[in-house]
Parts: sequence; structure tokens; C-alpha cells
Amino acid sequence: MKIAVRPLAELTTLGVGGPAEVWEVETPADLLEATSAPYRILGNGSNLLVADSGVPERVIKLGGVFSRAELGEPREGDAHVTPWLGAGALLPALVQQARQKGLSGLEPLAGIPASLGGAVRMNAGTRFGEMADALEAVEVFHDGAFHVYHPSELGFGYRRSNLPAGGIVTRLRLRLYKRDPAEIEELLRQVEAARQGQPKRKSAGCAFKNPPDDSAGRLIDQAGFKGLQRGGAMISLEHGNFVINTGGARAADVWELVKTVRQTLPLELELEIWGELP
Ligand SMILES: Cc1cc2nc3c(=O)[nH]c(=O)nc-3n(C[C@H](O)[C@H](O)[C@H](O)COP(=O)(O)OP(=O)(O)OC[C@H]3O[C@@H](n4cnc5c(N)ncnc54)[C@H](O)[C@@H]3O)c2cc1C
Repeated sequence: MKIAVRPLAELTTLGVGGPAEVWEVETPADLLEATSAPYRILGNGSNLLVADSGVPERVIKLGGVFSRAELGEPREGDAHVTPWLGAGALLPALVQQARQKGLSGLEPLAGIPASLGGAVRMNAGTRFGEMADALEAVEVFHDGAFHVYHPSELGFGYRRSNLPAGGIVTRLRLRLYKRDPAEIEELLRQVEAARQGQPKRKSAGCAFKNPPDDSAGRLIDQAGFKGLQRGGAMISLEHGNFVINTGGARAADVWELVKTVRQTLPLELELEIWGELP
């Protein structure tokens, strides 16, 4: 197990956030020790706005046995696989693994820079489908023990789940199907095409949830907020729902932009706040 105080800016895609004690756990024994004091669980940091002052809790990151993910091959006569995968593994690598093996089910999630655990927790998805659709079972560590849940027990909805308090997703079981590789490529092409127009700069993805039957990006564009800047943070010119770090942004800059938008538009946050913001 590695324990070090690190700026969370290094561990989040937006690239902002102050220090925390980061515990990189590699075994179940590490996890027991790491959870013996107040903690937070960090995935790939792609949905987080972390305060400039950091967080006082331990920040647990899954490594070692918790980050292995091998899809395997269907058994003779079977058209599907149901592998158990480590929740610390990264979703984009798994999407590529499935593509190479001609296994279908993850295509709707192509391009989402999540860890598998973070994708379960947020029920990450696109208009083509979401994480919960591919789940067979989820292993969650809480109250000092590992528990296995059926997806129907975890309250999945639009970008949300109802994990037990303090629950850490440690493994998940997917159900993926053998499919004509040409059909998989076509689906991936459509999902990737829908992502065109999203900024390539540092961000935490969509800042706000889409209201029912509308698009937060469209509303922000219409209200004239695109290009608005505070310090090193800017509301992307390419996509109004992305706050980007143009270089040297602080969490306080991003938060200013979020507050400005919300003075006009009653949008619910999609990105998650860690720590105290001004
Ligand atoms: C460029 C870009 C594009 C994006 N596009 C999409 C998209 O199309 N669709 C979409 O849904 N999202 C998108 N996102 C947002 C983000 O990728 C998702 O919300 C993702 O699910 C977050 O996963 P993570 O591992 O990075 O979690 P983190 O950001 O590290 O954490 C998010 C939450 O999950 C919790 N968490 C993390 N790991 C675990 C675990 N093992 N067990 C329990 N809880 C855990 C954290 O405590 C936190 O509450 C995008 C982000 C970026 C930067």
C-alpha cells in the first residue's frame, strides 16, 4: 500500500484541487486499514471539483487486485461472458478490450474517462445507454465486509445510484455478448460521433445535469454564458455545459462560474464537490 500527501489536482481530470492523504490500496487487508478512519473514495477523478484547500479525509484509490480487469473468452457454445472485474480498472481500456474480442455491451460508454467503480457509482452513460445496463452484480465494501448486490438493489437512475453509505465498489460483474465486429464498430462510430464538439481541454465533463427533456448546454448557450471566464477557468466555447481549465485554474474560479450560471438557470450539478468552496 502506498500512502502519500498529494495535490488532488494531479488525480483529477479538471486539474484543480488541494492536498489530501492518498491511500492506494492493493489488497483487502489494505482496504480494511484504510477505512479505519474517515475516508473518500477516488476513481479516475473525472467528475470532481476538489476545493483548493483539499479534503481532510483519507482519499482511497483502488490499485493492486482491485484494478485487474480481464474479459476472457466465451465458453464453447456460449454467446456471452460474465467476468468479475476490478473497480479500479479504467473504462476506456475495457471498452477497447471488448472491441478487440468482439464483445458487445460497453459501446454506449465509449469515451467516458471513468474508473469502473466511478462509472457504477455515477451510473455513467450517454444517450445510447448506461453502465447499469451491462451490470450483472456489484461487490461493495462497507461496514468492514464485502457484500454482493444485484443491480436492482442499487437504485440506478440518471447519473445516480443508491450505494450503501460509505460503500466502495470493489468489483463488478458484467454481461457482454459476442457480436459481429462490424456492428460493434458501427455502434462505436455513432457514440464517438455524438461526442464530437466536446472540448478536448481539461474538464470534469458536464458540469450540470440535463433538465428533463432539455439540454443544460443549450440553456447555457442561450443565456450567453459561453466563453465566460474567471481566472483560469472558462465556460467552453465548444460546449456550454463544460467548464474547462485553460491553465492554472483554481477550484474557486470554477465555482465562481458555476454560481454565475445558477443565478440565472436552476440547474442541478452533475460534477461532485469535494471540500469547502467559497
Ligand atoms: C471529457 C469527459 C467526458 C465525460 N463524458 C461523460 C459521459 O458521456 N457520460 C457520463 O456519465 N459521464 C461523463 N463524464 C463524467 C465522468 O467521467 C463520470 O461521472 C464517471 O463515472 C466518473 O468516474 P470516476 O472514476 O472518474 O469517478 P470520480 O470522479 O473519481 O468520482 C465520482 C464519484 O464516484 C465515487 N466513486 C469513485 N470510485 C468509486 C468506487 N470504487 N466505489 C464507490 N464510489 C466510487 C466518488 O467517491 C465520487 O463520489 C465525463 C468526464 C470527462 C472529463
